[in-house]
Amino acid sequence: MGINKQSYAYGASKSSIREIAAYGAARKAQIGAENVYDFSLGNPSVPAPDAVRESIARALELPATTLHGYTPASGLPAARKAVADSLNRRFGTAYAADDLYLTCGAAASISIVLNAVCNDGDEVIVIAPYFPEYRVFIQNAGATCVEVLADEVTFQIDVEAVRAAITERTVAVMIDSPNNPVGAVYARENLTALAQALQDASRELGHAIHLISDEPYREIAYDVDVPWVPDLYASTIVCYSYSKSLSLPGERIGWVLVPNTHPEHDELVPAVAGAGRKMGFVCAPALFQRVLMDCVDEPTNIEAYARNRKALTDGLAAIGYEFIEPRGAFYLWMRSLESDANAFFERAKALELLPVPSDSFGCTGWVRVGYCVSYETIVNSMPAWQKLWDSYHA
Ligand code: PLP
Repeated sequence: MGINKQSYAYGASKSSIREIAAYGAARKAQIGAENVYDFSLGNPSVPAPDAVRESIARALELPATTLHGYTPASGLPAARKAVADSLNRRFGTAYAADDLYLTCGAAASISIVLNAVCNDGDEVIVIAPYFPEYRVFIQNAGATCVEVLADEVTFQIDVEAVRAAITERTVAVMIDSPNNPVGAVYARENLTALAQALQDASRELGHAIHLISDEPYREIAYDVDVPWVPDLYASTIVCYSYSKSLSLPGERIGWVLVPNTHPEHDELVPAVAGAGRKMGFVCAPALFQRVLMDCVDEPTNIEAYARNRKALTDGLAAIGYEFIEPRGAFYLWMRSLESDANAFFERAKALELLPVPSDSFGCTGWVRVGYCVSYETIVNSMPAWQKLWDSYHA
């Protein structure tokens, strides 16, 4: 039959986050947007900075054939240089334009990197709970997704559990800090311990295990150090996008960085280009490559998220809910009031509250509450959270 079974299965099953968001949109149309408390999707609620609009307006002055024309497969050299220079200013590094490959967002960055490093039958370790698309991208690269649970109290990386999960087929470990879905930011000591474990294992295995650092939330952190991972572990590859930091998720712009300090840099750079070519992920949107030249150093406005975070944590704590104090990103990880998070979600849904049950992220008994919503949504949702609590404590 002329249909790929794996692709069909992915298309037919859909992502539960998107299904909840679609339900939320339909429900809003039915009963009014103000009556539905949709905490499902990670769509930034902060507008893109004015500088983005101004940059687009300037770019529109270019001759149309330049503006809309193909760029080199890896991106405009000037755009890649702008990103490299910005990283060098921030992290004291010496990256060059050629260390960067511009992509259609972090999803493409991750897919490219996985296809650049994986061979059939390899294993990639993820720290559960994790962004559910990781599994899809890993399987698409011909590898197996190996879940290692985070520390169940702190939700930092359980380094001993990672050590125990490494086999001779392990090609990479993938991390995401600030973390979706937990809101944790991995501490420097935690990452240093992981680096040590990977160094030890790489030496024993005779090949370097890559650390893939997916960082779309790097700039969204609340007074906490977000270490630059390549400084801690040489075989790190960084995936990034401007979907969250500049609130541009629909524009599809991001990058892969193969740091020039990576021991396999010279082979990885062509492998990344080849993976982009194989998958047709070449020539990221040209207009937004030009926006990067102007906006790469625009600060991320996290004030609204910080305000939402406080309202949500204060409100839920006052009711009695237990959650992991979010240190970054715009998600709160809250314990379900029964062991079956899906059953808890159904009760929440009946009260027009739409968090995402933790099963989709690879662990049971929790929900993710995305607070990239309006402040009013958070404040107005509190009576429903109270009712939900009361329904379990009658
Ligand atoms: N990685 C993580 C952890 C995410 O949360 C997301 C999106 O929500 C992505 C990657 C994909 O980002 P992008 O929209 O830039 O493809």
